[in-house]
Amino acid sequence: KEEVDENGDANMEGALIARDKVGVQDFVLLDSHTSEAAFLNNLRKRYQENLIYTYIGSLLVSVNPYQELDIYTVTQMKLYRGVNFFELPPHLYAIADNAYRVMCNEYNNHFILISGESGAGKTEASKKILQYYAVTCPTTEQLQTVRDRLLLSNPVLEAFGNAKTLRNDNSSRFGKYMDIQFDFKGAPVGGHILSYLIEKSRVVHQNHGERNFHIFYQLLEGGDKDLLCWLGLERNPQKYTYLIQGRCAKVFSINDKNDWKIVRKAFSIIDFTEKDLEHLFGIVASVLHLGNIQFEEDSNGHAIIRDGSQIKWISKLLGAHLSILQEALTHRKIEARSEEVLSPLNVDLAFYARDAVAKAIYGRTFTWLVNKINSSLANKDSTKKTVIGLLDIYGFEVLDTNSFEQFCINYCNEKLQQLLIEMTLKAEQEEYELEGIEWEPIPYFNNKIICDLVEQKHKGIISILDEECLRPGEATDLSFLEKLEEKVGDHAHFVTRKLADQKTRKSIDWVDFRLLHYAGEVTYCAVGFLEKNNDLLYRNLKEVLCNSKNSIMRDCFLLSELDNRRRPETVATQFKNSLTSLIEILMSKEPSYIRCIKPNENKEPGKFDDFLIRHQVKYLGLMEHLRVRRAGFAYRRKYELFLQR
Ligand code: ADP
Repeated sequence: KEEVDENGDANMEGALIARDKVGVQDFVLLDSHTSEAAFLNNLRKRYQENLIYTYIGSLLVSVNPYQELDIYTVTQMKLYRGVNFFELPPHLYAIADNAYRVMCNEYNNHFILISGESGAGKTEASKKILQYYAVTCPTTEQLQTVRDRLLLSNPVLEAFGNAKTLRNDNSSRFGKYMDIQFDFKGAPVGGHILSYLIEKSRVVHQNHGERNFHIFYQLLEGGDKDLLCWLGLERNPQKYTYLIQGRCAKVFSINDKNDWKIVRKAFSIIDFTEKDLEHLFGIVASVLHLGNIQFEEDSNGHAIIRDGSQIKWISKLLGAHLSILQEALTHRKIEARSEEVLSPLNVDLAFYARDAVAKAIYGRTFTWLVNKINSSLANKDSTKKTVIGLLDIYGFEVLDTNSFEQFCINYCNEKLQQLLIEMTLKAEQEEYELEGIEWEPIPYFNNKIICDLVEQKHKGIISILDEECLRPGEATDLSFLEKLEEKVGDHAHFVTRKLADQKTRKSIDWVDFRLLHYAGEVTYCAVGFLEKNNDLLYRNLKEVLCNSKNSIMRDCFLLSELDNRRRPETVATQFKNSLTSLIEILMSKEPSYIRCIKPNENKEPGKFDDFLIRHQVKYLGLMEHLRVRRAGFAYRRKYELFLQR
């Protein structure tokens, strides 16, 4: 490693560039640009020298280093600020700076799409870009607060929305799109966050080796004695059913105590009052107490609560009447004509109701949290702003058992891949042909066929699922599976055990269906799909929450919801609609792309797993992208913009 002179940017630049001359910095410069082996060689060579970034034209390929590299310092940020894109070695900062400079010059909106599978480095990249703007953009004393809030919204959202999974110790379990708003001088003046489908099922269940959302462990580890005492909690996570199913409440790589301090401090900067926090942690604690409620059968086979202590705490923390709460957890209110009848639950249903309420409380509180952060980031000044959007959304996921959540996550990745294809490979090639430029078409896999399979009206999987959820009669996960076989059974990207050939059959269970995604095959277990898509909460539980004295609960469960007799949209349809609007938001902006690659399955620094990486290079369409970049024009501008300049 070269000595770096802290004070001499020029020196440092020289050293940097010399060091970075391993392989080629831009795949476009590869001699054998159609060879996948040459592509991988270049990536490997650079990765082994800790050069994790390489361009394909203006697209950045990033390979997760799984170790702290000394390339994110303030000196580095300053080096990249205002410098032309190709003058310095590839870096996130160059992408960020380029979007920013074009925005300032052309006064238009941008987004940076960071994609890659779970654990490939998306969340880290988006944080680093935000930090880059925070450090390098002009600001005033007045705007310091905005800057701090933008930065500090992150740890709070991560505490509530991220968790340890097998693939990633800090995996985002929700999708996030963040707009950073800039004034005409290029100073960040506000922001807005859109969140997408948080994985609520994690609140009540975690797979082996995984944890619940960080905040639970942070609160128990870091919360001071008085707070825990007020919440009725013990410091030991082992005491809470909802925290120990993955059998790894304590992980050596995560410092919950320290993270708690960061989150606590962040809360005070983003405008949360002590009262807000009291109510917020009251809810977090209530979820833990809920998880410890056990039911047993009375002589009539009805569920009764075994020990009243947890419910007392919940009643206190949520400001709900004890006996009404107790009744709501063990009965279901049924409306028969104009009458309301309370029907006792059996033990299984009582557990189901308990988990449903825990998920609902947590899920809605998360949405409340995002709204609250948004009001603290809102810019009151109504003059026109330009924005740079950062999209950091859950990556493609294949687990041992894949459920409804993975189905939604992977569908989302299909949509983003489709956007990328539309905006790069497809649009550019069509433009050349339209302009009569001699062009040999470059074939690529267009995943629209899979998007359609999932989302097409009436014919797609989501429609079929909704139909099963909404139809009268006995619909079950199995009847859903049969409907799928009937309606999409002949689709080339869909298979079930019944439809599979002899060889494939063995690997698919009777309750499974398999989708051949652009990024690989995923077998989904249909069990739970109907319930998760319906996401219903018994009416009497809703009533308790609407009347809660906890103001966050009252914000989350509005009384008007009780009067509304219309069935809410199903989860999958809501998700589909929110993705459609996201794509619209993105399509109206100028894109920059960062493609993240996971180098190995073991989070190990320096290990370049050829097989794994080749697979990602393939499905991300990087070779095709390179061929288009190589054959196409390096610089492309719309006529109007060119003329204006
Ligand atoms: P994703 O959001 O794609 O699931 P993350 O961004 O959370 O993945 O990255 C997973 C882990 O990899 C991080 O917790 C961090 O330890 C490591 N990591 C990712 N990017 C970097 C980076 N640029 N430098 C150092 N470590 C990184």
